[in-house]
Amino acid sequence: MDGTLGHASDASLKERICIAAADPKLEVMLAEADISPILLTLAHISGEDHFLEEARPYIEGGWSFMVHIPEEMSNRIRTHLAKLLREIASGEREIAPPPSGERLHRLMNLGAGTEIPASYVPMMVEEMQFDDRDPRTVAWREPQSTVANQFKVIIVGAGLSGLGLAIKLKEAGYDFTIYDRADAVGGTWYVNRYPGCGVDTPNHFFSYSFEPNHDWPEHFSKRDELWTYQESLADNYGLRPNIELETEVLAANFDESSRLWIIQIRRKDGSEETVIANAFVTAVGQLNTPNIPDFEGLDSYKGDILHTANWDDTIPLAGRDVAMIGTGASGMQTGPSIAPEVGNLTIFQRSPHWAIPNANYHKRVAEGMKWTLKSIPFYAKWNRFLLFWAGSDGLHDSLHIDPNWGTPDISLNAQNQQFRDDLIAHMRREMNGDETLLSKTTPPYPPYGKRMLRDNHWYRMLVRENVSLVTELIRRVTPTGIETEDGKEHFCDVIVLATGFQTARMLGPLGEAIRNGNGETLRQSWNGDDPRAHLGVMTLRFPNLFMMYGPGTNLAHGGSIIFHMECQIRYIMQAFREMVEGGYQRMEVRTAPHDAYNAKLDAKHYSMVWTHQGVTNWYKNKAGRVFANSPWRLVDYWAFTRELNPDEYDFS
Ligand code: NAP
Repeated sequence: MDGTLGHASDASLKERICIAAADPKLEVMLAEADISPILLTLAHISGEDHFLEEARPYIEGGWSFMVHIPEEMSNRIRTHLAKLLREIASGEREIAPPPSGERLHRLMNLGAGTEIPASYVPMMVEEMQFDDRDPRTVAWREPQSTVANQFKVIIVGAGLSGLGLAIKLKEAGYDFTIYDRADAVGGTWYVNRYPGCGVDTPNHFFSYSFEPNHDWPEHFSKRDELWTYQESLADNYGLRPNIELETEVLAANFDESSRLWIIQIRRKDGSEETVIANAFVTAVGQLNTPNIPDFEGLDSYKGDILHTANWDDTIPLAGRDVAMIGTGASGMQTGPSIAPEVGNLTIFQRSPHWAIPNANYHKRVAEGMKWTLKSIPFYAKWNRFLLFWAGSDGLHDSLHIDPNWGTPDISLNAQNQQFRDDLIAHMRREMNGDETLLSKTTPPYPPYGKRMLRDNHWYRMLVRENVSLVTELIRRVTPTGIETEDGKEHFCDVIVLATGFQTARMLGPLGEAIRNGNGETLRQSWNGDDPRAHLGVMTLRFPNLFMMYGPGTNLAHGGSIIFHMECQIRYIMQAFREMVEGGYQRMEVRTAPHDAYNAKLDAKHYSMVWTHQGVTNWYKNKAGRVFANSPWRLVDYWAFTRELNPDEYDFS
């Protein structure tokens, strides 16, 4: 591995250990904490690996439910950790020195129960931050000559990505402002508030590495918690003075003579203003404009209509007959959440989606686990490592098409077929062997072709008395319900549109509002629905425009989009450093590296599941090109974005 592993100072580690060791609840709390991070913490602090060696045969993977250590052994390990902490606190023992790179790799292998490629080690070290410092922070190379406070950055979007970048801009001393049309920060986690809305990536990993939250109430928390996390980012990092809410960006034009972005904004009171920036950053995500299908008769409907991304709590659902159209990630969470309270729930499925179970998905985090995350040095870091490993690149290889595979319509290769079989077995169990429902809900395309969902008790919901699944296509909406192609009218009091977003219109209205020096809009440069960018960050002919979560950066095989955001933040901060330290006013990506990167990205996609001919998904444009997703393993994207290569850009 490269880089030197550091620790927080011995004094601060010792202080934390003394406090934890003096707590009379120590054993009680450790008893509720997951065992694998305990094993890794114990090895890390003691310098001894024998417990890890002993437990190794019982560890099948990073998820806590893949660890089957016998209770007697578990108790011994926990007791030993408590004893070790007390010995360190009393001065009888010392904290072991930081592990060498080689030993760290060994600990990772033992803890995850598999051989982790060496290329992952430096990335994991960055992610874990044993010394409590963010190694992705971009330091000034020439501190004396920086004039960052004269370099103005305007960000549109105060969600996770905008706030994350803002934190780093503030630390480095830039002048910046975030505009957001909403009346609060939080982006998608503020706007989306449909019943059951929550994250389906484990939360102790779905949070900034430099700002962990040890108080997540659930392993996969709900929307309010995710929104509150972002509120705390804005408060804890003092970002509020730089955030202007209820302010919309109407137009952004790059002026080649001044090399500045001239940006037109409109505030809530209707007043408009022109502001200028050296750099303009879009941080509006890929899922920001709801898709309202163009159903004949929708306007004539006399009941209530709700879209999941535009939920209205004042519309009652209890006891009323509800029709829900759409069975993607939003429908998956909404349906089971409302089924117990509504009269009848009729679900209109145009095509089935795959959904994977996870034993922790509905679990609350035990108080002892929260305490241990907060109190025991390194525990939270090893916990993050295990979740990162468990939920990230493990499946990536299996998403490639084997050209010799015998059943290419329904699976890609042997591993993908096995995965398919396992998912079907799960569905069958959950639906009590109802073969009619099973055939309706089994996708005819390979697993992962559409976004893999987390089973939110979806299949159990389908067997409820008051739930029915309609697979006939919708012909039109009537004043009183929904008519399907078989001529049947399904009466309902409320229609819930769980119909997703206008994803091919990347950046929503901003695509039409952003113009380069030639007057060309971003949408025109992308030929409408074919967005491209170098590493997902900078696109051709749009100098000083940077994108967070841009084209080709959505994660669909695993991982956390926050990890990608952290990669992009570092890359963009490096770009700003090049501009500021070099005294440049203009930075534009060169055609050759931009096109080469996109050719490589396309070639990779054509070997992968999302281009499969039998799949429709929101990742592809009309021509079938996957514009939304990253085809790379996390470790690849991390390596691509780790060091900005100035030769790929023109500076002036
Ligand atoms: P989505 O995945 O695009 O699903 C939309 C659903 O509506 C699909 O079932 C689609 O059917 C159906 N639909 C669309 N137009 C239709 C029409 N005209 N007639 C009938 N059915 C129609 O949208 P989403 O569920 O809002 O999720 C979008 C993305 O948001 C997800 O992929 C995920 O990235 C993110 N998300 C994440 C979470 C989470 O982390 N837990 C939660 C919600 C959303 P077809 O499949 O046939 O197109």
